[in-house]
Amino acid sequence: MQGDCTHPRTEFLARRDGVDYLRCLDCDQVLEADDLESVPAVDEDRDLDR
Ligand SMILES: [Zn+2]
Repeated sequence: MQGDCTHPRTEFLARRDGVDYLRCLDCDQVLEADDLESVPAVDEDRDLDR
């Protein structure tokens, strides 16, 4: 089971149609950079709403 991997370590595979493709070094899964950016780490919009 690889469902719990958060892909903390990735290597760059290729860029295609404006999308960066990465491969996780831990679970070997191929990811789109957009998928990783969707992880709720930094929410820039919130600072504007203070
Ligand atoms: Zn992974």
